[in-house]
Amino acid sequence: MAAWLAAVYVLCHWVALALWPAHAQGVSFAFLVIAPLLAALACAWRMRRSEARVGWLALAVGLLLWAGGMALNMYQDLVGGTPDATPGLSMLLYVLYGVPLTFAMAHPRHEPWYLILIDGALALLLGYLFFVHTFSFASVGDAPDAGVASLRRMFDIENLFIAVFALVRYLASEDAARRAFFRALALFAWVYLLMAAYINHVATEASYGGAADLLIDLPFLLLAVVALRERPERDATTPRRLALAVRAGSPLILPAALLVVSALMVDAHPHLAVVGFALATLGSGLRGVVMQVRAMERQDQLDVLARVDGLTGVANRRQFDQVLQAEWSRARRSGQSMALLMVDIDHFKQFNDRFGHPLGDACLRAVATALAGCASRSTDVVARYGGEEFAVVVPGTSREGVLALAETMRRAVAQLRLVAADPQQQIGVTISVGVARVGQIASIDAGPLLAATDAALYEAKRHGRNRVVEGHVGPVPLA
Ligand code: GH3
Ligand code: MG
Ligand code: MG
Repeated sequence: MAAWLAAVYVLCHWVALALWPAHAQGVSFAFLVIAPLLAALACAWRMRRSEARVGWLALAVGLLLWAGGMALNMYQDLVGGTPDATPGLSMLLYVLYGVPLTFAMAHPRHEPWYLILIDGALALLLGYLFFVHTFSFASVGDAPDAGVASLRRMFDIENLFIAVFALVRYLASEDAARRAFFRALALFAWVYLLMAAYINHVATEASYGGAADLLIDLPFLLLAVVALRERPERDATTPRRLALAVRAGSPLILPAALLVVSALMVDAHPHLAVVGFALATLGSGLRGVVMQVRAMERQDQLDVLARVDGLTGVANRRQFDQVLQAEWSRARRSGQSMALLMVDIDHFKQFNDRFGHPLGDACLRAVATALAGCASRSTDVVARYGGEEFAVVVPGTSREGVLALAETMRRAVAQLRLVAADPQQQIGVTISVGVARVGQIASIDAGPLLAATDAALYEAKRHGRNRVVEGHVGPVPLA
């Protein structure tokens, strides 16, 4: 439907030119202002439905700037003056239309506000350099040839830049919303690039009002059609590394654009060009530092997640294995003693069956907190060993000290009261604890200590639960 309407639009443009040849220029201007406005409306419509909001919004803003440039042309034509000249302000709007597009391409998703601020500042500077560069030539009509050539070069570079990066981002986008946005942008940008190259380099002598104007409608109408069509994009099968590289590299688009424009300005505005070079370098450097800090913080969080049990907040099994081995080796070198406690909640299966899994989880958390509260020395490590079993590594403590710690833990858990669905009902739990200690370590691995602790826990269960039983480490092979 939208495609048919677009075709009708071009047809109307052609018929109007044929019907009113005397006003061909004014007619064309009207069609050329309305086409980007329609595309901007379509982008705004799509923005409300897409997750790639920033992109669609930036595209709509860019199109409005372009339509503004054409409207200024039209104003000049209607009000009088030199009909073939393109006013400088109009030129500026044509150039500035690329700034929001560049911003959209540089913008990775889920960016914090301070990174958007850096990108925004670079985009503003880019716009300012465009502004200065464009006003170096009052208008194409009376600018010297070299100036016109330089402006055309700037348009070419800008259009190619947008087309290439939009395509790269489309190919490397993983999520459907961004793929759809960059597909639309890439389609538009490539057709716009070809159209602009034809108008600027082939049909250079023709003024507005000719058949070539129909070509200018095309990219905008195409974009409107694509934006209105909500064809779901399939999940991409982009190689992960390419997707990551493009996501990490796309913020470089803004400083790269700044460097290119600064290079174009070296002759006419050397000081501004230097400012452009410096801020492009500083901006991307600053962005790099911020990203690095964020990556390090995320790594810290992942390190914690890798060591901590998600349910109870105490060390997890992997961390327990590492701590046990590290403390064992340290104790072996220093001649210190080493003890281990194995804690198991009594009749926990019954507990779950009677009160439900959620209260079972709350019970596990409460027991873990109680155990960690008793292990006050910084070298004691409480870990969730598995399901409803906990282990406590206790280096460098006397036999009496370890047994006292185990007894304190047993009593602390026995005093816990959990509240069931019926608040009147207060539930208690008990634990059994197996303890084993080695005074002088001779073996390389802690297996015998673990086995002795496990056997002691089994004894505690066998003798009625809710008790501490001490086990003995059997003869171990010498290291
Ligand atoms: P015993 O006194 O001999 O230790 O009996 P028990 O019922 O505690 O022992 P058993 O090994 O038969 O049951 C352990 C129960 O722990 C079974 C399982 O449903 C429960 N469990 C293990 N992990 C979790 C967990 O993460 N959350 C909850 N709610 N329950 C768990
Ligand atoms: Mg168990
Ligand atoms: Mg149990």
